[in-house]
Amino acid sequence: MILRMSTLFVRTLRDDPADAEVPSHRLLVRAGYIRRAAPGIYSWLPLGLRVLRRIEGIIREEMDGIGAQELSFPALLPRAPYEATGRWTEYGDGIFRLKDRKDDDYLLGPTHEEMFTLVVKDLYSSYKDLPLSLYQVQNKYRDEARPRAGILRGREFVMKDSYSFDVDDAGLDASYQKHRDAYVRIFDRLGFDYVIVKATSGAMGGSRSEEFLAKAEVGEDTYVRCTVCDYAANVEAVEVPTPAPSSYDGVPAAHAEQTPGTPTIDSLVDFLNEKLPRDDRPWAAGDTLKNVLVVFTHPDGTREPVAIGLPGDREVDQKRLEGQLEPITVEPMDEAELRKHPALVKGYIGPGVLGEDSTSGIRYLLDPRVVEGTRWVTGADVDGSHVVDLVAGRDFTGDGTVEAADVRDGDPCPRCAETGDAGVLVSARGIEMGHIFQLGRKYAEALDLKVLDENGKLVTVTMGSYGVGVTRAVAAVAEGTLDDAGLCWPREVAPADVHLVAAGKDDALFTAAEEIARELDAAGVRVLYDDRRGKTSPGVKFKDAELIGVPTIVVVGKGLVDGVVEVKDRRTGEREDIAAASVVDHLV
Ligand code: ATP
Ligand code: MG
Ligand code: MG
Ligand code: MG
Repeated sequence: MILRMSTLFVRTLRDDPADAEVPSHRLLVRAGYIRRAAPGIYSWLPLGLRVLRRIEGIIREEMDGIGAQELSFPALLPRAPYEATGRWTEYGDGIFRLKDRKDDDYLLGPTHEEMFTLVVKDLYSSYKDLPLSLYQVQNKYRDEARPRAGILRGREFVMKDSYSFDVDDAGLDASYQKHRDAYVRIFDRLGFDYVIVKATSGAMGGSRSEEFLAKAEVGEDTYVRCTVCDYAANVEAVEVPTPAPSSYDGVPAAHAEQTPGTPTIDSLVDFLNEKLPRDDRPWAAGDTLKNVLVVFTHPDGTREPVAIGLPGDREVDQKRLEGQLEPITVEPMDEAELRKHPALVKGYIGPGVLGEDSTSGIRYLLDPRVVEGTRWVTGADVDGSHVVDLVAGRDFTGDGTVEAADVRDGDPCPRCAETGDAGVLVSARGIEMGHIFQLGRKYAEALDLKVLDENGKLVTVTMGSYGVGVTRAVAAVAEGTLDDAGLCWPREVAPADVHLVAAGKDDALFTAAEEIARELDAAGVRVLYDDRRGKTSPGVKFKDAELIGVPTIVVVGKGLVDGVVEVKDRRTGEREDIAAASVVDHLV
């Protein structure tokens, strides 16, 4: 079918939409691909829908290729299954909830783990039925706090979500790997410059998890990668190395292990209350510390404050350790005064003293530990609730990770730290395109999905969940390929292969263009033919062709009298004259 500009339901716009935050959003609206219906909710016009469908097509091929089977669930879902897994509450304001006329609760599905688990439970009962992978390409609804950048973060969006079901962990590993490989093929085909990073699993639960991030400055995710090894992680998920290979001078690995008596928030708060009592109320976890307090912990467990707000001095520290100096008096210090010490701005500055992170403003309560003459440093983020080994970067109280804010360019790479290599982390921005999780048995347990194993024993099924943002992919491909003149689609996802422009007034020219359009169409080339007559000038047609972004532009114009048409590559801008008679062969 030939698309004709004279009848195509499209109006290209000269002006940028007022709410456009990123170039892809601006151009998708101006080129007539999408229209905003409500905040974060978009309608798809014919050109946009074609791109969306092509991306869906690629995803379907790769999903079918690993043996996943497509089905489709409703978006309107009952409360009960989400109640059973705790997500009705966990999602908070993040989901759309509604009531039917009988006052029963429903939600618009943000993701469908529950429904897939239940349908497998309904129909399958034996290990012989597994492994199984199911998927759908379907609208999802999330009441995003900040819908953004057009379809990049919508409140209604298309997601491909798939789910794997296995009887044991080895099976789940295999299913996960298959999906991972399929995702690599999908994103390669979509032409993304992407990176696969370690991720957290968030509201999904589960263990192993990776994200596919398109490298893009406009992305909302920050990831780090190592300068030496292939370590890459979303900053939300950087695992902090165990303290063993501390960078702290002279600390034998053995001493850096967490030892009994490692300070906790509570013990540090106790300490503060003892050494720095306040008049108004006792210190509590979460209090903001106005000063940096440096404390030595001696091997017998006694703690000694050595400085407040002052950089450490090795010699002085050493003398103090050897008992040659009187214990220091603890005096609160004014924050403004504190900031005058340049060393405090840098973070770690030497034995016994750590400063404040001048960018995040996070202050640490310090506890340089003394063990057999060597020391290591722990600090408590008093603004939060973590006790962190600031040298090795280990969180003793959290889940083994430190918060994003804690990862900075130049920090040691956690994997290299284990192998003794010198890699450091560098950060960049990305758009989350896909996310794969090993869910494990969380959903199967909550919804009681069990099958009989080889021995006739009931076992809980283990699951994986795998998502690709399809509408987001449209925006991200656009974002990654556009130029000053407009959109610039890779051939695999373009709404047409050839944008044929009849540039002139003569009937002969339209007759020739029409014939080229028909022949291309017959040869399976998808043609968008600008057959507009009358007022539309060649200049307007050229501008529209650039804006719409079909990869090859063919101009039937002035050259026709000499028997040639112009073939232009939208991306490179290269033009060549081709004999009109052979242009179809040239393009097929
Ligand atoms: P984000 O961190 O961007 O909010 P997410 O981690 O909440 O995404 P997942 O639950 O992992 O998203 O969903 C799988 C995929 O769905 C994501 O990798 C992303 O490509 C897509 N997606 C998620 N939320 C949106 C949205 N609001 N608009 C468009 N696509 C989305
Ligand atoms: Mg989200
Ligand atoms: Mg995310
Ligand atoms: Mg995610």
